Amino acid sequence: MVDDRLLIDLGDRIKSSERLVVFSGAGLSAQSGIPTFRGGCDHPLWSEYDPMKLASPEGFASDPDLVIKWYNWRRQQLAEAAPNAAHHALASLMNATLVTQNVDDLQERTGTHEDHVLHLHGSIAHDRCHDQCGWSERVDLAEPPGMRQCPACGAAARPGVVWFGESLPHETWEQAAHACAHADCMLVIGTSGVVQPAASLVELAGSAGAFVVNINPEPTPLDDLADASVHGGAAEVIPQFFAS
Ligand code: NAD
Ligand code: ZN
Repeated sequence: MVDDRLLIDLGDRIKSSERLVVFSGAGLSAQSGIPTFRGGCDHPLWSEYDPMKLASPEGFASDPDLVIKWYNWRRQQLAEAAPNAAHHALASLMNATLVTQNVDDLQERTGTHEDHVLHLHGSIAHDRCHDQCGWSERVDLAEPPGMRQCPACGAAARPGVVWFGESLPHETWEQAAHACAHADCMLVIGTSGVVQPAASLVELAGSAGAFVVNINPEPTPLDDLADASVHGGAAEVIPQFFAS
């Protein structure tokens, strides 16, 4: 049971922040029915699938068809999902920097402009050229394309996400790191804190003096870095911060 007074106090702090960063992970979308990779839902994806076969350049090289089918299954799941109460509450934060490890587009579907969300791990709603020639295109999530070639250069087309062993998009990372280094408050939502370098952003904000609030139903290593932790689901906790 989360103490109401604590939620009100933390809400006041978050609302009065002048340089707020919201840093989210898969847990933000868990209550929209999108499974996480590592816990907090009935069937976290990495408990059933091998990340190296499905989310790495090596996996794509050895069985591209399997990789595309797996992503298309996740895209169809996303097509049927809707933003939850936490996404809607975050949509009211016009001046915060929204940094996410999520590849879904649920935040944008609340009306948050796409330029306002820094997707560190890319977007499952897009395909891009595997050879990085610069081609990228939004796909229909309900009826995504199968295996195909990049129309610009003929290399393989692939989901626009960052796989294990790949670099994060440089400019997006720079923007996120800059916001964290200047933040006065950071709201961390639904991340296991084990995927680097994304999780180092929490350390960066903390050492810059930001007040760090961590929301997760389960204990994580990020609790040790946070000034306050609330153990609960994002869809219940986040709207309470902005209730009054
Ligand atoms: P993760 O799967 O490693 O961890 C999810 C975390 O969310 C866990 O700590 C879990 O306890 C917590 N959680 C579960 N339900 C929650 C809820 N209702 N409210 C708040 N927290 C909840 O996710 P991560 O830390 O984001 O790991 C990063 C990788 O997972 C990224 O590469 C990201 O792209 C990928 N991912 C994204 C999505 C998505 O876009 N929705 C889904 C699955 C995985
Ligand atoms: Zn290309």
